[in-house]
Amino acid sequence: MLRKIQNLTFSELYEKRVLLRVDFNVPIKDKIMSDDTRISAALPTINFLTKNGAKVILISHLGRPCGTIDKKLSLAPIRDKLCELTGKNIIMASDCIGSKVEHTIASMTAGNIVLLENVRFYAEESKNDETFSKQLASLADIFVNDAFGLVHRAHASNTGVTKHLPSYAGYLIQKEVDFLSHAIESPKRPLIAIIGGAKISTKTKVLKNLLDKVDKLIIGGGMAFTILKAKGYEIGKSLFEEDQLQEAKSFLEKAKTSKAELFLPLDQIVTENIKDSQNVQTVDIKSIPSDMLGVDIGPKTIDSIKKSIKDAGTIIWNGPLGVFEVTKFSTGTCAVAEIMADSNAITIIGGGDSASAISQAGLSDKMTHVSTGGGASLEFLEGSILPGLQVLLQEEVV
Ligand code: AMP
Repeated sequence: MLRKIQNLTFSELYEKRVLLRVDFNVPIKDKIMSDDTRISAALPTINFLTKNGAKVILISHLGRPCGTIDKKLSLAPIRDKLCELTGKNIIMASDCIGSKVEHTIASMTAGNIVLLENVRFYAEESKNDETFSKQLASLADIFVNDAFGLVHRAHASNTGVTKHLPSYAGYLIQKEVDFLSHAIESPKRPLIAIIGGAKISTKTKVLKNLLDKVDKLIIGGGMAFTILKAKGYEIGKSLFEEDQLQEAKSFLEKAKTSKAELFLPLDQIVTENIKDSQNVQTVDIKSIPSDMLGVDIGPKTIDSIKKSIKDAGTIIWNGPLGVFEVTKFSTGTCAVAEIMADSNAITIIGGGDSASAISQAGLSDKMTHVSTGGGASLEFLEGSILPGLQVLLQEEVV
């Protein structure tokens, strides 16, 4: 059980400095933010804290500045968006530690919000540096983590600080954990998982864990080809990870004895070259030409997925089923998004590229839950212990 912010009373929060770790790592290009989902997702926690008179100190990363100050990765554009969404004047700090920041915080009153500058301007953040963690913790009386997208990492601003401050989970983390754990531990059945994406090396653990949990496991995307190769199929020039061949074979062995039904693509859209795709064909999965590569699931596969999903109780989806960034090869991914949107099942999107595909198709509102953390939700589904959550667990009363 997580320690939850709603268990804090008004008097425990009033005029207290609360360091709130959020994930404002949103897409910004030429100062234009194309998606503010992650900012909106943090509002319930921000509003709860300000209503209870806390002084809210927001801390986040943006991009990967890797310990250097990169003005393009300043959180300033996020401050403007936050002012718009909260209707409050939010103070932007010029740094995330140091005397200037301390001075700014000292002038805060109940209900004020300060946004600290990008915490990854310090290399110490990702190293979970002890001194840096203490410096961050010294800014506040209480720590709240609401950055679900980062719970699979042990960084200073999400785990290091918890050694020095009473620490709680915000509403977003609670919601993400509730949906994902419910879907995997006590789902409405049949439970179907659709896993795609490029590399099987990043997903073998989740595939094996899902075999123990789901009723049907549908695999697509580039990662399907290493499994197909392990089954002895010719895959032409399709994405293949030779060093994962053994893992793929061991996955297939496990699948044979598992109660879960394994579904692999029946056909593929193939081309000679993704970038210059003149020659595009639809072929049976057993007939991929030696000089071509599979870039999307074909119509037979889409149809079969549609039939599988029809009676599903719960569907979890992580990873695109083709090279969806190229419009020509996005048909399978978009079709699955639409099939899920039309389904009566509980639909859970595991963040990352699948969440982008759903958002691009304007279907986010039709899903039961779209996770804000791709890597985090994947590791959650693997059954891994996530460091950012571990530090927020209540001690067992014996
Ligand atoms: P991941 O980060 O592992 O979820 O992978 C996402 C990437 O997988 C996207 O950039 C897709 O373009 C890519 N992808 C999906 N299907 C294929 C495929 N058949 N061949 C190559 N890349 C693919």
